Amino acid sequence: MEQKNEVTAPRVGWRFDNTYRRLPAELRAPGAPAKVRAPRAVVVNHALAQELGLDAERLAAEAAETLGGNALPEGAEPIAQAYAGHQFGHFTMLGDGRALLLGEHVTPAGKRVDVALKGSGRTQFSRRGDGRAALGPMLREYIVSEAMNALGVPTTRSLAVVATGEPVMRESMLPGAVLTRIAASHLRVGTFEYAAARRDPVLLRALADYAIDRHDAALAGSDEKYVAWLRAVIARQASLVAKWLLCGFIHGVMNTDNMALSGETIDYGPCAFMDTYDPATVFSSIDQQGRYAFGNQPRIAQWNLIRFAEAILPLLHDEEPRAVALAESALNEFPAAFEQNWLAGLRRKLGLFNAEDGDGALAEAFLSAMKERGADYTNTWRSLATDTPAIDDQEWLAKWRARLSRQSEPLEAAQALMRANSPAVIPRNHRVEEALAAASQGDDLSVMERLLAALSRPYDDVPEHAPYREPPPSDVSCGYRTFCGT
Ligand code: AMP
Ligand code: MG
Repeated sequence: MEQKNEVTAPRVGWRFDNTYRRLPAELRAPGAPAKVRAPRAVVVNHALAQELGLDAERLAAEAAETLGGNALPEGAEPIAQAYAGHQFGHFTMLGDGRALLLGEHVTPAGKRVDVALKGSGRTQFSRRGDGRAALGPMLREYIVSEAMNALGVPTTRSLAVVATGEPVMRESMLPGAVLTRIAASHLRVGTFEYAAARRDPVLLRALADYAIDRHDAALAGSDEKYVAWLRAVIARQASLVAKWLLCGFIHGVMNTDNMALSGETIDYGPCAFMDTYDPATVFSSIDQQGRYAFGNQPRIAQWNLIRFAEAILPLLHDEEPRAVALAESALNEFPAAFEQNWLAGLRRKLGLFNAEDGDGALAEAFLSAMKERGADYTNTWRSLATDTPAIDDQEWLAKWRARLSRQSEPLEAAQALMRANSPAVIPRNHRVEEALAAASQGDDLSVMERLLAALSRPYDDVPEHAPYREPPPSDVSCGYRTFCGT
């Protein structure tokens, strides 16, 4: 038998196939991660590594090098993506100023995902920024995105956070870090605004065909495929924003460059979960007008989708008036699509298996009662699944109980439905801050690890969850502010 002497290096299992860089060159700039002084893997997501078909142990062993910037995973070909965007309503040319797409990994099951670094140094799109990220905000993205995934909300994922051993200058000096983000793609509404701004129909069409191939391949052969694609993008956003509202999530900076065509939540900056229910809730320090307030998110999603439709208008029809009419008719479906998703979710949270006309009003009355009482959004919803709902509105309770009794499913089944749709645990701001403080100031990762463990099972009733279910002390919650961290 033939003797094999060569020692194969242990493989992590990356299988890169980088299609984005085969698109026209205007869509990207070359890039390379900055070398860093003393990379240290702070957290590596073993479960996600396994889902991606990677060897988690080997990945963890080399993450400091290959996901910190000093080396690259085998097959990676970094580029900075070009895009534009409406930021708080104003159009700007942007691009990856502190991120690099390493390429696309294809899992053994054939799923294609983007692998990107965030905080990996300057690019051609950095403008005045330093291209870096601080450890706190990168861990925050890690925690919140993984929580969203466990809640069942489509989202980009976080594979690792590597501390760079270098300081970044913000309001004060902070430890630097690089996050590895996994996404269905990084195609944004703003990517199409960029292509439209170039006024190059060939570029726009190439990009659109690429997006369809990645996220809506089934539409490729259909008549009016670009109109069908617009409809599919609209439908995904309607579903996504309904899911945000159902779990109390506030994105915080829904600029068009932060809205992904895949329908995943992307770009965790000043996002946060609401404690006390109030649709006007805003946490972001830069959102002074409340543009991205909790209850405004459906309207903003539609506003962003209008920008998307404008960008792709030439693809919808050769004659502009006809293209506009097609876009308008697709966009007009958004409010109803959102309402449908939202109402379906509310029914599940109320324990309802079937539909009755009054269900919307019943849910609205519940939300109003919560608002009047300054009730905790998560805990009040969750309490409906118990024998002692935490809402002292007898009239509402009587109506709801009567409604439950009109369906054939027993109360236990309704309670199980409610438990599966109203989480016990969300990443509460004070708990996230506590974990970040321990990790970035004291180097103690155990607080974050316990939090992540609880967040990975948000719908379970287990005693270990108790500390994570408590709303913040009132003095903490009122002044809570989130920052972009740029
Ligand atoms: P964001 O608010 O994180 O979505 O970022 C908006 C734009 O600013 C994007 O083009 C980012 O790449 C860019 N950006 C954010 N932070 C930095 C930074 N520290 N250095 C360079 N560019 C940045
Ligand atoms: Mg962004």
